[in-house]
Amino acid sequence: MKIEKLMVVGAGQMGSGIAQVLAQSGLSVLLNDVTDERVQKGIEKIAKQLTREVEKGRKTEEEKSAILSRIYGSTDLRDAKEVDLVIEAATENKEIKLGIIRQLDQTIPANAILATNTSSLPITELAAATGRPDQFIGMHFFNPVPVMKLVEVIRGLATSEETYQAIVDLAKSLEKIPVGVEDSPGFAANRILVPMINEAIFCLYEGVATTEDIDQVMKLGANHPMGPLKLADYIGLDVCLAIMEVLHQGYGDPKYRPCPLLKKYVSAGWLGVKTGRGFYTYE
Ligand code: NAD
Repeated sequence: MKIEKLMVVGAGQMGSGIAQVLAQSGLSVLLNDVTDERVQKGIEKIAKQLTREVEKGRKTEEEKSAILSRIYGSTDLRDAKEVDLVIEAATENKEIKLGIIRQLDQTIPANAILATNTSSLPITELAAATGRPDQFIGMHFFNPVPVMKLVEVIRGLATSEETYQAIVDLAKSLEKIPVGVEDSPGFAANRILVPMINEAIFCLYEGVATTEDIDQVMKLGANHPMGPLKLADYIGLDVCLAIMEVLHQGYGDPKYRPCPLLKKYVSAGWLGVKTGRGFYTYE
């Protein structure tokens, strides 16, 4: 299946990055959010990112203009009536996502694919809310989207091979590396990464080592470019906690219990870089 016309729903951190890589690959994309203001904010973020690329000599002014000219703003999901694919990247909230998905299912052409960038919600359950579970799939990009190569492609129980192949081909055309995974809590990347972060927080909580030393151990001992506590600050401690809760609930296994210190930081509003304080402080 050839994917030519697309909509990205949600013009936040991820949606704007996804729209950028689609437009960079030559595709036209509708970028949808709830207000004009949010759409414009998303487009401005893309423009800023492209300006940095021009300053570094990686893109020309002409390329930047051409990329931006392929991104069209939208505040109405009915604008998706002729698309081949929608990538839903709205707020991580099941009710919000179900509302969007149900409306899109009624709007987009019968053969179009619905993909979601959810980090934690079950693909099979979201797919079941549509009349096209065979054309529903997880397309999980990583942050920052223009930089990170991985795309987890998550099959729901009913996802067809044709849908899977179309998304794998699209990811490759965006110069990403798709990895197919089955639908299970946390998929693969977050199931491995976030419990490691949680364990690092347990080490701090139990006084095994200091924040700096825990990060140093993993940088020097496991060759990680960034220590787990610093990484948690960048991901957002609320996001880390939400993923641990999905794993804990999804598998019912106590090995996934969130560290009490993580819960305490989140309840204090210490969410990491975005609030200026997490395991480290930020200006
Ligand atoms: P964000 O808060 O930056 O952006 C979410 C956007 O969705 C906001 O602009 C919001 O206005 C919009 N939105 C909310 N309801 C909407 C609706 N009904 N219609 C259209 N737009 C709506 O969030 P984000 O970090 O970009 O995350 C988006 C999705 O990507 C989530 O599912 C998240 O789990 C997933 N994700 C995030 C990361 C990450 O590191 N941030 C990584 C991978 C996947």
